[in-house]
Amino acid sequence: MKIQFLGTGAAEGIPSFGCACDRCRLAREAGGYNARKRASVMIEGAGQRLLLDTPPEISTLLDRAGIFDLSAVFLSHEHFDHIGGLTEFEYWNQVLPICAGYDVLPCLRLTPRLEERSLVTGFYAHTRLHFGDITVMPFKVIHHVPCYGFVFEMSGARVVHFSDASPTMGTLHRHLAEDGDVVIFHTPTFETHPHHLSVQNVISLVKGWSLRRAVITHINHDNYLHEELVEKVADHGIIVAYDGLTMEV
Ligand SMILES: [Zn+2]
Ligand SMILES: [Zn+2]
Ligand SMILES: [Zn+2]
Repeated sequence: MKIQFLGTGAAEGIPSFGCACDRCRLAREAGGYNARKRASVMIEGAGQRLLLDTPPEISTLLDRAGIFDLSAVFLSHEHFDHIGGLTEFEYWNQVLPICAGYDVLPCLRLTPRLEERSLVTGFYAHTRLHFGDITVMPFKVIHHVPCYGFVFEMSGARVVHFSDASPTMGTLHRHLAEDGDVVIFHTPTFETHPHHLSVQNVISLVKGWSLRRAVITHINHDNYLHEELVEKVADHGIIVAYDGLTMEV
């Protein structure tokens, strides 16, 4: 399987509009790894392309990555940075399954044209959805609205994606993470955050759990610059994602 990080910014992206902080200014002027569009990931394998989350700039992200065909879209939860670009799929080139938890579907604010032109599909946690040789299993994470992580599996390789999740994790989450070849966490801030895992939380997880490869994404402008962050987590074997990063599993 191939993982492609299309965007790696948190809710506001970096640079964030209306913000003149040092990190946004640097991202605006110099770009590079410090400029982060909002978070979206593509999982690819055996002719299938699964898109996870549709931030407001999704059309630009797909276009810039040269992705012109998709097998399905998965949505983690209703927050704007994850579904703000969903309406763009009114203009997608083919009929597409759009999959979300049954408790997330009513919050998607689907337009009539999108409902007419896509295959809106609900799922429950722990069901297995098959797209060719890739199996997708959604699982619940704690966030302040209903929210799902996903396990993507192909030929024995597993990618576990936690999406926005609070630092409150259960034994289930530990088992899933420890079974993963790559485990992706959303960490807007470095220090503790009430609704989100932080980089410090992931450092603690890596110390306590047995994880093969941990990756952090969904990073905001209060966090460190990319190179600083890479340095701070290097000793813990954590990978800092950036827009355009691809990984093979
Ligand atoms: Zn988010
Ligand atoms: Zn800023
Ligand atoms: Zn959220």
